[in-house]
Amino acid sequence: MTGGPSSTPQVEVTRIRLGIVSAYLVRGARTILVDTGLPGQGERVLNALEHLGVTSGLSAIVLTHLHADHAGNAKLLNERLDIPILTPAGGLEYAATGVNAPGTATTCVASIVGRLGLVPKRFTPFQPGEVLRDGDRLDAFGVPVQILVTPGHTDHCISLVSDDGQAILGDVVRGGSRRRTTPRAPLLLDDETRWRSSLSRLLDVPWSTGHPGHGDLLSRSAFDGFVRRLRP
Ligand SMILES: [Zn+2]
Repeated sequence: MTGGPSSTPQVEVTRIRLGIVSAYLVRGARTILVDTGLPGQGERVLNALEHLGVTSGLSAIVLTHLHADHAGNAKLLNERLDIPILTPAGGLEYAATGVNAPGTATTCVASIVGRLGLVPKRFTPFQPGEVLRDGDRLDAFGVPVQILVTPGHTDHCISLVSDDGQAILGDVVRGGSRRRTTPRAPLLLDDETRWRSSLSRLLDVPWSTGHPGHGDLLSRSAFDGFVRRLRP
């Protein structure tokens, strides 16, 4: 081994596709699961973990924010895998009640989806094992990852940035699809001013690959271009 960049601990990020939403495995010395899918997808997540051969090496479940499509199976997986749920400090009231953090639809489609109740608004409440605050690190859970509080989509969203430059972005932005590679705004915003501040903050942090909760992975240049175009 030589020094320099190769001495930075590497992580492997694996996407678990769960229909409209993704969960992620972040593998270092140990493995964390970031987000848990929609209510009712617990067995699907467990099957994916078994298929990927990580069921026994998991150290924690980390939630990017308290919406049912991300926290939907936190309690079930906490019990089945016997690992703690790490929860953003600002999301504790939602964890306790199992009710989605509020937000306002940013598109007509999001508004219709909300009115028709097509995306669940409730999840099984749970007791967080640990609370995450800005600047916390997850080395104790076997991954060289730092927590950034990046609110706006909700009042408590977090992003996870690994030392080797991978960013798990939750719903800070939506990722691309087969037809488009540029990110988009989330379908719900709690506070647009705070959201824009969070985007600016993510511009100031070194990372190269973004992994959003919805849509495909993002290059840093696509993210930077999106944020530049948003500015007035
Ligand atoms: Zn969300």
